[in-house]
Amino acid sequence: MIIVMKPHATSEQTEHVFERVRELGYQVHPIYGEQRTVIACVGDERGKARLQALELVDGVESVVPILKPYKLASTDWKQERSAITLSRTGENGFSPITIGNSHFVVMAGPCSVESREQILMSARQVKQAGARILRGGAFKPRSSPYSFQGLEEEGLKLLAEAREATGLYIITEVITPTDVPIVSEYADILQVGARNMQNFALLKEVGKARKPVLLKRGMASTLKDLLLSAEYIMSMGNYDVILCERGIRTFEEYTRNTCDLSAVPALHELSHLPVVVDPSHGTGVRSLVTPMAKAAVAAGADGLIIEVHPNPEEAFSDGAQSLLPDQFEELMTWVKKLAQIEGKAI
Ligand code: PEP
Ligand code: MN
Repeated sequence: MIIVMKPHATSEQTEHVFERVRELGYQVHPIYGEQRTVIACVGDERGKARLQALELVDGVESVVPILKPYKLASTDWKQERSAITLSRTGENGFSPITIGNSHFVVMAGPCSVESREQILMSARQVKQAGARILRGGAFKPRSSPYSFQGLEEEGLKLLAEAREATGLYIITEVITPTDVPIVSEYADILQVGARNMQNFALLKEVGKARKPVLLKRGMASTLKDLLLSAEYIMSMGNYDVILCERGIRTFEEYTRNTCDLSAVPALHELSHLPVVVDPSHGTGVRSLVTPMAKAAVAAGADGLIIEVHPNPEEAFSDGAQSLLPDQFEELMTWVKKLAQIEGKAI
């Protein structure tokens, strides 16, 4: 349910409503707008009729149901587009960056952190081309137990060193709830991978973390499933969620996945959260990455996450879809032009 306060409701009246909502066993998620405060009350769906009675409380204008199954992720609760800001105040070379709400950001780097030389070189190359965030997996969710599983904490340390050396922010994946504290120590954005989109224990744990989360769409998930997973994170108090379309499984075999670009405008209709596209996993084919990246910008994406490797032939994972540094540079030239046409700052 959403409680809409009157434009001139006092803070005492609003506080009183918070108390009443909590007494009824619901969580309070307020948005303090310029005109009025809007309070999402989330909790057990069964008791929501009792919230309706709060319509009679002083300062309340109306109590209306949120019809969508996801509440905090929906445009019913928040109409303005959300933006996520990264900052490392006080550290040299780091200017804050914003993702979403007309601010376009490119994240790039190798699939996995493999060695000090590899990640430092990748960081310098993607920075040179204009990326602001370095990607690289330290904990890898591999389909086969015999594939490279990642350098784990050593990989996180190497990412931190690359951040220090270049001024790029860092995104890296967390695959288990118990790793959330250690990954949060190093990462600027926590990545939840496609295979873990419905790992609810993990979603709750990253919901408690004080770091933004990039949530990838599961390969057999609907947009509703994706938004319900975002809701898990947000209901724990972490509103800084970035949605990521990374391709879904279809009967097509030429591409690794089918990159569903209609998800971008659809998610923008359903949700206020920023939407990023990953055309690397979305296609699995190097030659298709740049065309799909261009199309993603045109579809209104708020950012891209791209795999780039200094020497893809030798990559420990996802070499076939990784761009060479000069290909990434060319992609960036296109993306800068197209983002500008879309009215986005990059
Ligand atoms: C990755 O980003 O390297 C990755 C494993 O992605 P996904 O979860 O989308 O497969
Ligand atoms: Mn990968």
